[in-house]
Formats: sequence, structure tokens, C-alpha cells
Amino acid sequence: MAIFAPKCDRCGQRTRNEEDVQPICDSCAQEMRLILDAAEENTHSCPLDGSAMKKEIAHMIVIDRCPQCKGVWLDGGELDKLTGDLRAEAISVMTHSLSMTMP
Ligand SMILES: [Zn+2]
Ligand SMILES: [Zn+2]
Repeated sequence: MAIFAPKCDRCGQRTRNEEDVQPICDSCAQEMRLILDAAEENTHSCPLDGSAMKKEIAHMIVIDRCPQCKGVWLDGGELDKLTGDLRAEAISVMTHSLSMTMP
């Protein structure tokens, strides 16, 4: 038995959560689940240039981003899941087309 909790595979935070023998913290586990769900959804085509949009996770919601024009698509209701500050932050992330830092 290790004295310290193992580090989360994705963000390095110490956690005692495990999934498939990989240590993973709560928020990463939640995000992974979102990514897996998103992978099963159909990809959208960009309404502007028809490129296949790429799924990204921002603030626990799935967004589709066009690699061509950096446009962002939200599935119906996704923005509604966010409230207050998070919503404002997510909107600014999307409107400024920041490149997400994915570990
Ligand atoms: Zn983590
Ligand atoms: Zn586009």
C-alpha cells in the first residue's frame, strides 16, 4: 500500500479514484466520460465551409469546433447547462476561439 494517493493520469492531481487500473480524479473521470459520449455522437459539418468539426470539451460541455474557420457549434441545450460565471466564461472561450490546452 502506497502512503500517498496515486496521481491522476491526466492532470497529476492526487486521487484514490481508479478507472481500469489507471488513477483518475473525479473531474477528469467526468470529462473522460463526456469525451467518450461525444465520440459516439455524429460530427457536425461546419455551416460555413463544410469541414468536419472537431469535438472539444469546455467547462464540462461538448462543443464542436471547425478546424478551418475556428467557428464553434453548440448542440441544443448545451449552453443552458451552464449558469452564471461559467456560462460567461464558456461564451468568452468560444467567441475568442482560444486553443484549448488539452493535456
Ligand atoms: Zn485529473
Ligand atoms: Zn468552418
